[in-house]
Amino acid sequence: MNESNAIYREMGISDAVLTFADGVLATLTAPFARTDAIAEGNQAKVLLAMQRCRVNATHFNPSTGYGYDDEGRDNLERLYAACFGAESALVRPQITCGTHALALALSANLLPGDELLSPVGAPYDTLEEVIGIRPSTGSLREYGVTYAQADLRPDGTFDYDAIRRAIHERTKLITIQRSKGYATRPSFSVEEIGRLIAFCKQCKPDVICMVDNCYGEFVEDREPTEVGADLMVGSLIKNPGGGLAPTGGYICGRKDLIDRCACRLTAPGLGREVGVNMGLLTSFYQGFFLAPAVVGSAVKGAIFTAACYQRLGFRVVPGSDEVRHDIIQAVELGSRERMCAFCKGIQAAAPVDSYVTPEPWAMPGYDSEVIMAAGAFNQGSSIELSADGPIRPPYAVYFQGGLTWYHAKLGVLMSLQKLLDAGLIELK
Ligand SMILES: *Cc1c(COP(=O)(O)O)cnc(C)c1O
Repeated sequence: MNESNAIYREMGISDAVLTFADGVLATLTAPFARTDAIAEGNQAKVLLAMQRCRVNATHFNPSTGYGYDDEGRDNLERLYAACFGAESALVRPQITCGTHALALALSANLLPGDELLSPVGAPYDTLEEVIGIRPSTGSLREYGVTYAQADLRPDGTFDYDAIRRAIHERTKLITIQRSKGYATRPSFSVEEIGRLIAFCKQCKPDVICMVDNCYGEFVEDREPTEVGADLMVGSLIKNPGGGLAPTGGYICGRKDLIDRCACRLTAPGLGREVGVNMGLLTSFYQGFFLAPAVVGSAVKGAIFTAACYQRLGFRVVPGSDEVRHDIIQAVELGSRERMCAFCKGIQAAAPVDSYVTPEPWAMPGYDSEVIMAAGAFNQGSSIELSADGPIRPPYAVYFQGGLTWYHAKLGVLMSLQKLLDAGLIELK
């Protein structure tokens, strides 16, 4: 029994849950040590890049108006590029979220008549409208960009024959989603992504390979840009913002492709020369500095979730002893009631809005009801502890984030308690 148990009891966690959790934790020494080692390596990698970019106090200055000669903004972009082994980067508060960053990278680099290919099955829900899989105003489809998809094989691996068949002279850009998103397929390792990119380039040397890196940054010791990705895209209210960035997105990669993104974000002829930093640079730099440790905490929370729910007999993706490629933990709870109880627990453990009860709701960009638990400092931030999932079979809840491991742990304890209180689990 540990020191914090008295206060956990005061918060309503029962001895049954505490004993169960202690038993689970005792089995996690090895995966936690592995997580710490990766975080340490990534912390050094970020520091080396910050030192090479000679980050200093003037880089935190706010800019106004057009944002001409915004050295802090420009150096932040050099920092991302240096850290991720890319030629160039666009890191902006004007990129409003991950979906926006992906839409920007796609619309900047696909022209009428081009085809976009996903060789890893269906993309993240919100991209369906970006691409035009579901009809939508302003979609790529409206602009005459077509879409093709090669599904994964039943075991979750790449279907190389189908991918080869899908690549033709109009295939301009290949989008690879690293994280499973709202699916229960496995997420891909950076190594697997590297192999897939090499295969696609073998089929068509000039095809652009883009990786949706949302939730993946700093989970491994390398990023997709270090294994051949031409473009890599993510959100600053996920991993690389370290919980401090209040908004923003990034795109890293080949300079010619990033320049096109800048011209699409602002205007042709203006490109990356304009764009105020909104006074957010300190949070961007400091969040990036903290990100490796924050991601390590989130990964520990995910491993602990997997171990607890696996022991209770639920299907979890990935398993507690599997190597991680993103911060997402899927738990198939099998019913709407269990999803709601789980999310109630996460919400009750939050530093903000702990007193509210999450309810399923229709969300823009998603085609079924979604339940979300989040008590975050930054609205919608999913590097902060959160849980969500579409209310549809297999009733999987997606657990992610945790700025500190201790908070993530408390969230899991609370989720177990709520399920226990509602008679929806039995602790063994
Ligand atoms: C979160 C996410 C997105 C979309 O990001 P938003 O910031 O929610 O718009 C896209 N792809 C993946 C894999 C994600 O996890």
